[in-house]
Amino acid sequence: MGERRSLVLDTSAFIGGFDPSSVSEETYSVPEVEKELLESFIPKLRFTTSVESGKLKVIEPQQQYINLVKKASEEVGDANLLSSADISILALAAQLKDKGHNPIIITEDYSIQNVAERLKLKFASLTNLGIRYQLFWKQYCPACGKEYQTDREITICENCGTELKRKPVKRKPIKRD
Ligand SMILES: [Zn+2]
Repeated sequence: MGERRSLVLDTSAFIGGFDPSSVSEETYSVPEVEKELLESFIPKLRFTTSVESGKLKVIEPQQQYINLVKKASEEVGDANLLSSADISILALAAQLKDKGHNPIIITEDYSIQNVAERLKLKFASLTNLGIRYQLFWKQYCPACGKEYQTDREITICENCGTELKRKPVKRKPIKRD
């Protein structure tokens, strides 16, 4: 049972086209990921369908693991880049690992990958899994919700002065040769 493989799916995994029903592993995510998927119809549909079929388990991680992840993200300098969904995904992976799972975080997000490495949690990108999509990232203010073009060099919200976060927004198939 200790070697049972579990996949922990972040927002970018769903936006990038990952479908929990396409794999034999147990799949996990967190409530905040569903919130981040609100604007993305197909990924959101996959999320809710997988929950209803029992394939995807949505768990709120315990506070001690949230604290662990926050500390690690500060140590690697990525604390400002992680959304609360990102922190919860990492915390859930740490919690599952403690419970004897062999979890792998599926994410396209370099900051999540950095912190996962720091916490010795395994991760894989969609490309590793043979899914070839390109994600686009959008910067937004977590306090007032204002959105920004990522090509603008801005890190603080013009409206309210809060530090900006970023999230994956859409995908397109990468042309095959
Ligand atoms: Zn703002």
